[in-house]
Amino acid sequence: MDKAEQAARQSAEINHDTALNAYVSEIACKVAASHCADIRIYVFDRPFFNATMAPNGYAEVWSGLLLRVSSEAELAFVLGHEAGHFLENHSIEAHNAHKARSNVTLALSVGIAVAGAVAATQSPTAQSAQSMIDATGNLIDAIYLANIAAYFRFSRENETEADHLGLKAANAAGYPAEAGADAWKAIIAEAAASDFERKRKREARLGIFDSHPLSRERVEALTSQAKTLSPANDPQGGARHRAAIRPHLSAWLRDDLRRRDFGESLFVIDRLARRGEDLGVVGFYRGEAYRLRRKEGDLARAKAAYQAAAIHPDAPAALWRELGDLHRRDGESAQARLAYDAYLARVPTAEDAWLVQDALSSLNQGT
Ligand SMILES: [Zn+2]
Repeated sequence: MDKAEQAARQSAEINHDTALNAYVSEIACKVAASHCADIRIYVFDRPFFNATMAPNGYAEVWSGLLLRVSSEAELAFVLGHEAGHFLENHSIEAHNAHKARSNVTLALSVGIAVAGAVAATQSPTAQSAQSMIDATGNLIDAIYLANIAAYFRFSRENETEADHLGLKAANAAGYPAEAGADAWKAIIAEAAASDFERKRKREARLGIFDSHPLSRERVEALTSQAKTLSPANDPQGGARHRAAIRPHLSAWLRDDLRRRDFGESLFVIDRLARRGEDLGVVGFYRGEAYRLRRKEGDLARAKAAYQAAAIHPDAPAALWRELGDLHRRDGESAQARLAYDAYLARVPTAEDAWLVQDALSSLNQGT
């Protein structure tokens, strides 16, 4: 873990936004209480729901998690859950229990995935590793992945205990007790929306390491625990969380689409849109999800999504280029011209401005 931390400092995927890092660390401190000073949080731009806290205090929080929790309270619960593993030394238990038996197999299966032979295997871990590599565009160290996966492979009992401790800590810090069940329900619902049948059928997982099987029983346990806790209320928690992640929404949604599970991405997009904020950015990526998925009827859905997003001031310029392409494809020359003009007016010096100019002149020649 000391080595992992040294490597992390050099990683191109480290997120250096000081405000975002301060926000995540502040919440981690609230739920880790007296151990606050021992924990060092690193935020990674990686499009998967994942957080870990190692016994040396090295902690990773991935952007896919920050994109998915909908409030400060849900983030506090998830970090409280990880702090629970940390405080109870679960990773040391897991390490000892698995050291002799499963690490070799796991290292091999992850190694195979990294070598790109994933198509030949049905291992969910290997598939996750491959999708992570596809999504990040980087070759992630096989040993690093295998070690982390083995290290954080907790038992069901450990998970239940961490849930319990996480909710207790988050509630003690003043967060509403429903946040625990809400956070896990959303993850279960997202897996059910997956494009991949195998993912829809098996129990939802947290993290790419399959270390956190998420059962309905865990949601029920959190729901009954919530009834015993204080009825805290935090009406601004959703807005504060959105403000912290807003500068990264666009980049993180683009990364999320690189996982190529459009069912899940669309679920995440719908959940983000529910606040009624950032509708230009979020709606643009809804259009992108349909455009890239290209199932029957998806291009029409993409066009509708772009049109709906275009009325919001935060809509990215690229929306008008995509919209122009779709109108042109459908033979709607006048609308295509309007969209291309809107694009060039917004970003006259765009790298692809000449391409759009070209499309415009062929439209004007009626070709
Ligand atoms: Zn856990």
